[in-house]
Amino acid sequence: MRLILLGPPGAGKGTQAQRLVAKHGIVQLSTGDMLRAAASAGTPVGLRARSIMDRGDLVPDDVMIEIIADRIDQPDTANGFILDGFPRTVDQAKALDHLLDERGMSMDCIVEIVVDHEILRERIAGRARETGGSRADDAEATVAKRLEVYRRQTAPVAEYYRQRGVLKAVDGMGSVDEVGARIDQSLRAGTDA
Ligand code: ADP
Repeated sequence: MRLILLGPPGAGKGTQAQRLVAKHGIVQLSTGDMLRAAASAGTPVGLRARSIMDRGDLVPDDVMIEIIADRIDQPDTANGFILDGFPRTVDQAKALDHLLDERGMSMDCIVEIVVDHEILRERIAGRARETGGSRADDAEATVAKRLEVYRRQTAPVAEYYRQRGVLKAVDGMGSVDEVGARIDQSLRAGTDA
Protein backbone atom coordinates (compact mmCIF):
# COMPACT_ATOMS: atom_id res chain seq x y z
CA MET A 1 0.00 0.00 0.00
CA ARG A 2 1.25 3.47 -0.89
CA LEU A 3 -0.22 6.51 0.81
CA ILE A 4 0.26 10.23 1.06
CA LEU A 5 -0.71 12.05 4.24
CA LEU A 6 -1.34 15.73 3.62
CA GLY A 7 -2.08 18.35 6.23
CA PRO A 8 -0.69 21.44 7.90
CA PRO A 9 2.04 21.43 10.55
CA GLY A 10 0.63 20.01 13.77
CA ALA A 11 -2.24 18.17 12.02
CA GLY A 12 -1.00 14.86 13.38
CA LYS A 13 0.51 13.38 10.21
CA GLY A 14 3.46 11.86 12.06
CA THR A 15 1.29 10.27 14.75
CA GLN A 16 -1.16 8.83 12.24
CA ALA A 17 1.68 7.66 9.99
CA GLN A 18 3.15 5.66 12.87
CA ARG A 19 -0.21 4.02 13.48
CA LEU A 20 -0.46 3.02 9.84
CA VAL A 21 3.10 1.72 9.83
CA ALA A 22 2.27 -0.62 12.72
CA LYS A 23 -1.02 -1.68 11.16
CA HIS A 24 0.08 -2.30 7.57
CA GLY A 25 3.78 -3.13 7.87
CA ILE A 26 4.83 -0.31 5.59
CA VAL A 27 7.49 2.36 6.10
CA GLN A 28 7.00 6.01 6.95
CA LEU A 29 8.95 8.41 4.76
CA SER A 30 8.94 11.70 6.66
CA THR A 31 10.90 14.32 4.77
CA GLY A 32 11.07 16.50 7.93
CA ASP A 33 12.68 13.60 9.85
CA MET A 34 15.07 12.90 6.97
CA LEU A 35 16.15 16.54 6.82
CA ARG A 36 16.60 16.74 10.60
CA ALA A 37 18.68 13.53 10.52
CA ALA A 38 20.82 14.96 7.71
CA ALA A 39 21.27 18.19 9.68
CA SER A 40 22.31 16.28 12.83
CA ALA A 41 24.73 14.19 10.79
CA GLY A 42 26.20 17.42 9.43
CA THR A 43 25.96 16.47 5.75
CA PRO A 44 26.20 19.41 3.32
CA VAL A 45 22.53 19.06 2.33
CA GLY A 46 21.54 18.77 5.98
CA LEU A 47 23.42 21.88 7.01
CA ARG A 48 21.91 23.92 4.19
CA ALA A 49 18.46 22.57 5.01
CA ARG A 50 18.76 23.40 8.70
CA SER A 51 18.85 27.17 8.25
CA ILE A 52 15.94 27.01 5.78
CA MET A 53 13.88 24.87 8.17
CA ASP A 54 14.66 27.08 11.15
CA ARG A 55 13.22 30.02 9.21
CA GLY A 56 10.07 28.04 8.42
CA ASP A 57 10.74 28.11 4.68
CA LEU A 58 10.73 25.18 2.27
CA VAL A 59 13.85 23.37 1.13
CA PRO A 60 14.19 23.68 -2.69
CA ASP A 61 12.09 21.27 -4.75
CA ASP A 62 15.02 19.73 -6.64
CA VAL A 63 16.73 18.75 -3.37
CA MET A 64 13.54 17.21 -1.98
CA ILE A 65 12.74 15.32 -5.16
CA GLU A 66 16.20 13.79 -5.23
CA ILE A 67 15.94 12.76 -1.57
CA ILE A 68 12.55 11.09 -2.14
CA ALA A 69 13.61 9.36 -5.36
CA ASP A 70 16.60 7.81 -3.57
CA ARG A 71 14.49 6.82 -0.59
CA ILE A 72 11.73 5.16 -2.63
CA ASP A 73 14.38 3.01 -4.29
CA GLN A 74 15.49 1.46 -0.97
CA PRO A 75 14.44 -2.19 -0.56
CA ASP A 76 12.45 -1.58 2.66
CA THR A 77 9.70 0.18 0.65
CA ALA A 78 8.76 -3.06 -1.13
CA ASN A 79 5.58 -3.52 0.96
CA GLY A 80 4.62 0.11 0.50
CA PHE A 81 5.19 3.46 2.15
CA ILE A 82 3.55 6.52 3.62
CA LEU A 83 4.73 9.90 2.46
CA ASP A 84 4.57 12.36 5.35
CA GLY A 85 5.65 15.90 4.47
CA PHE A 86 6.01 15.28 0.74
CA PRO A 87 4.80 16.56 -1.70
CA ARG A 88 4.64 20.06 -0.26
CA THR A 89 4.42 22.02 -3.50
CA VAL A 90 2.56 21.38 -6.76
CA ASP A 91 5.91 20.97 -8.53
CA GLN A 92 6.85 18.25 -6.04
CA ALA A 93 3.48 16.56 -6.68
CA LYS A 94 4.11 16.60 -10.44
CA ALA A 95 7.65 15.27 -9.96
CA LEU A 96 6.24 12.49 -7.77
CA ASP A 97 3.75 11.52 -10.49
CA HIS A 98 6.63 11.27 -12.92
CA LEU A 99 8.80 9.31 -10.49
CA LEU A 100 6.04 6.78 -9.83
CA ASP A 101 5.26 6.46 -13.54
CA GLU A 102 8.89 5.69 -14.28
CA ARG A 103 8.77 2.89 -11.71
CA GLY A 104 5.38 1.55 -12.82
CA MET A 105 3.89 2.51 -9.42
CA SER A 106 0.90 4.51 -8.28
CA MET A 107 -0.46 5.80 -4.99
CA ASP A 108 -3.39 3.90 -3.45
CA CYS A 109 -4.73 6.76 -1.40
CA ILE A 110 -4.12 10.42 -0.65
CA VAL A 111 -5.50 11.53 2.70
CA GLU A 112 -5.78 15.14 3.78
CA ILE A 113 -6.06 15.68 7.54
CA VAL A 114 -8.12 18.84 7.95
CA VAL A 115 -7.59 20.94 11.09
CA ASP A 116 -8.45 24.51 11.95
CA HIS A 117 -5.34 26.72 11.89
CA GLU A 118 -5.99 28.33 15.29
CA ILE A 119 -6.00 24.89 16.90
CA LEU A 120 -2.71 24.09 15.16
CA ARG A 121 -0.94 27.00 16.81
CA GLU A 122 -2.01 25.68 20.21
CA ARG A 123 -1.02 22.10 19.42
CA ILE A 124 2.44 23.08 18.21
CA ALA A 125 2.95 25.35 21.23
CA GLY A 126 2.08 22.31 23.39
CA ARG A 127 4.55 20.15 21.47
CA ALA A 128 7.26 22.80 21.89
CA ARG A 129 6.71 22.77 25.67
CA GLU A 130 6.80 18.97 25.79
CA THR A 131 9.98 18.64 23.76
CA GLY A 132 11.69 21.50 25.59
CA GLY A 133 12.16 23.52 22.41
CA SER A 134 14.24 20.83 20.65
CA ARG A 135 12.75 21.91 17.31
CA ALA A 136 13.79 25.47 16.58
CA ASP A 137 10.98 25.74 14.03
CA ASP A 138 8.34 25.21 16.73
CA ALA A 139 9.02 28.73 18.07
CA GLU A 140 5.88 30.84 17.82
CA ALA A 141 6.99 33.25 15.10
CA THR A 142 8.26 30.37 12.95
CA VAL A 143 5.01 28.44 13.37
CA ALA A 144 3.10 31.42 11.97
CA LYS A 145 5.48 31.41 9.00
CA ARG A 146 5.06 27.64 8.48
CA LEU A 147 1.28 27.97 8.49
CA GLU A 148 1.51 30.80 5.99
CA VAL A 149 3.86 28.75 3.76
CA TYR A 150 1.38 25.88 4.06
CA ARG A 151 -1.53 28.03 2.91
CA ARG A 152 0.40 29.47 0.02
CA GLN A 153 2.39 26.47 -1.25
CA THR A 154 0.96 23.24 0.17
CA ALA A 155 -2.80 23.83 0.22
CA PRO A 156 -2.65 23.88 -3.62
CA VAL A 157 -1.26 20.32 -3.50
CA ALA A 158 -4.50 19.12 -1.86
CA GLU A 159 -6.38 21.01 -4.58
CA TYR A 160 -4.23 19.32 -7.25
CA TYR A 161 -5.29 15.88 -6.00
CA ARG A 162 -8.88 16.97 -5.31
CA GLN A 163 -9.32 18.01 -8.92
CA ARG A 164 -8.14 14.59 -10.03
CA GLY A 165 -10.72 12.96 -7.73
CA VAL A 166 -8.15 11.05 -5.68
CA LEU A 167 -8.23 13.04 -2.44
CA LYS A 168 -9.91 11.83 0.75
CA ALA A 169 -10.42 14.63 3.25
CA VAL A 170 -10.57 13.49 6.88
CA ASP A 171 -11.63 15.57 9.87
CA GLY A 172 -8.50 15.87 12.03
CA MET A 173 -10.30 17.07 15.17
CA GLY A 174 -10.70 14.51 17.94
CA SER A 175 -8.51 11.94 19.64
CA VAL A 176 -5.71 10.07 17.88
CA ASP A 177 -7.94 6.97 17.80
CA GLU A 178 -10.94 8.84 16.42
CA VAL A 179 -8.93 10.42 13.64
CA GLY A 180 -7.22 7.06 13.04
CA ALA A 181 -10.60 5.36 12.64
CA ARG A 182 -11.65 7.98 10.08
CA ILE A 183 -8.46 7.42 8.14
CA ASP A 184 -9.00 3.64 8.19
CA GLN A 185 -12.50 4.21 6.90
CA SER A 186 -11.31 6.41 4.04
CA LEU A 187 -8.64 3.85 3.11
CA ARG A 188 -11.31 1.16 2.83
CA ALA A 189 -13.41 3.49 0.71
CA GLY A 190 -10.30 4.32 -1.32
CA THR A 191 -9.59 0.71 -2.21
CA ASP A 192 -13.24 -0.03 -3.01
CA ALA A 193 -13.59 2.85 -5.44
P1 ADP B 1 5.71 20.12 9.95
O1 ADP B 1 4.83 19.45 8.96
O2 ADP B 1 5.25 19.90 11.38
O3 ADP B 1 5.95 21.56 9.65
P2 ADP B 1 8.03 18.60 9.04
O4 ADP B 1 8.87 17.83 9.99
O5 ADP B 1 7.21 17.85 8.05
O6 ADP B 1 7.14 19.51 9.98
O7 ADP B 1 8.93 19.65 8.22
C1 ADP B 1 9.79 20.56 8.86
C2 ADP B 1 10.50 21.43 7.82
O8 ADP B 1 11.25 20.62 6.92
C3 ADP B 1 9.59 22.24 6.90
O9 ADP B 1 9.13 23.43 7.51
C4 ADP B 1 10.52 22.49 5.71
O10 ADP B 1 11.46 23.50 5.97
C5 ADP B 1 11.28 21.17 5.60
N1 ADP B 1 10.61 20.23 4.67
C6 ADP B 1 10.07 19.01 5.00
N2 ADP B 1 9.55 18.42 3.92
C7 ADP B 1 9.73 19.27 2.89
C8 ADP B 1 9.40 19.25 1.50
N3 ADP B 1 8.74 18.20 0.95
N4 ADP B 1 9.75 20.31 0.74
C9 ADP B 1 10.40 21.35 1.26
N5 ADP B 1 10.75 21.45 2.54
C10 ADP B 1 10.44 20.42 3.36
